[in-house]
Amino acid sequence: MLDQVKRVLLVLSGKGGVGKSTVSTQLALTLKERGYKVGLLDIDLCGPSVPYILNLEGHDVHQSAEGWVPVYMDSEQRLGVLSIGFLLTSRNDSVVLRGPKKTSIIKQFLEDVYWQELDFLVIDTPPGTSDEHITVMENLRQVPQCSAILVTTPQEVAIEDVRKEITFCRKTGIPIMGLIENMSGYECPNCSECTNIFSTGGGQSLAEYAKIPFLGSVPIDPRVGRLAGQGLCAVKELPDSKTSKVFGELVTLL
Ligand code: ADP
Repeated sequence: MLDQVKRVLLVLSGKGGVGKSTVSTQLALTLKERGYKVGLLDIDLCGPSVPYILNLEGHDVHQSAEGWVPVYMDSEQRLGVLSIGFLLTSRNDSVVLRGPKKTSIIKQFLEDVYWQELDFLVIDTPPGTSDEHITVMENLRQVPQCSAILVTTPQEVAIEDVRKEITFCRKTGIPIMGLIENMSGYECPNCSECTNIFSTGGGQSLAEYAKIPFLGSVPIDPRVGRLAGQGLCAVKELPDSKTSKVFGELVTLL
């Protein structure tokens, strides 16, 4: 239930595969590490990857008298996770839903989860701006503090699509906290040198052009995926990495 939530952070991207779920999970893990009580809600109905990234596949959610009970990452219940992925019997199952059904599932996820008191609810959304986003926006009106974090990769095609997200946020009145450029070069785990594989700086230029804050560049770093699978965050485990710097600074802005 959203009245149990102090602040909502919506993670949005124009395209799939740019690292939106990776950013959502690192953000949630970092907030938990900083002592906050956090919920992570994955409403990417057609590609729910949060259970996979956090190594929670096979867990079941159940319903209590208060509502859906999230899957907790830790015994102190400081990070609860809910994803449609928990309702599928196998990762290969597909979710075939028409608009109204999608809307009703998302409404249930927003209204009927027993989060208890949360400092932050991080919502991992599907790519683009679709029925799911409109439903979320309509339901978030009751949360006084809600903002969006946009994720892109440096390539021009991804940047073009993130412009649409900016327009969507402006039309629906959701404040944009800023833009993260993900997979921005490859950071060598041995010498920490960063090699720009794709173009570079596109995210920062777009942020300047659209007058939104640029929240930093996260490099390609295979260690980040491995950490999330163990419920660990880069800020604690890789303190000298660029990824740690971005997420460490991001949570101080909240
Ligand atoms: P999206 O949610 O936008 O579809 P994901 O977060 O699922 O994207 O990321 C897609 C793939 O890229 C995943 O396999 C993920 O582990 C990987 N990935 C994302 N960001 C990074 C990164 N910064 N470094 C290394 N791998 C990454």
